[in-house]
Amino acid sequence: MHLFEVKTGSRECLVDITSRVQQAVAASGVASGVCTVYVPHTTAGVTINENADPDVCRDLLAFLGELVPRSWRFLHGEGNSDAHVKASLLGASAQIPVEGGRLTLGTWQGIFFAEFDGPRTRRVQVSMVRS
Ligand code: ZN
Repeated sequence: MHLFEVKTGSRECLVDITSRVQQAVAASGVASGVCTVYVPHTTAGVTINENADPDVCRDLLAFLGELVPRSWRFLHGEGNSDAHVKASLLGASAQIPVEGGRLTLGTWQGIFFAEFDGPRTRRVQVSMVRS
């Protein structure tokens, strides 16, 4: 298992971690298998989406903000309940097939760390299963 840190600069942001995940895949030496990207946090997640037009990320964050208003009648008293809900909506892991030692991402796909309660220093775990 490979671990790296992500320093997020604002309360909510999407950080493109594709190249760091690819580095972890290369370091594993696994040519063919499945890569799991896992985020061990309750107010952050991981998602795969377009990395060409940055407006896609802006739209995703704006839409989630309307879907999960911070002012909703949450019971959890930390003031970050919206972040917990958004983290569950996106999920804590993503799986990407690996062939020839490379992630088999589509042309426009990137892997994003999703911060919902930053800024913080976060961790991402990358593990491989050989096939
Ligand atoms: Zn909380």
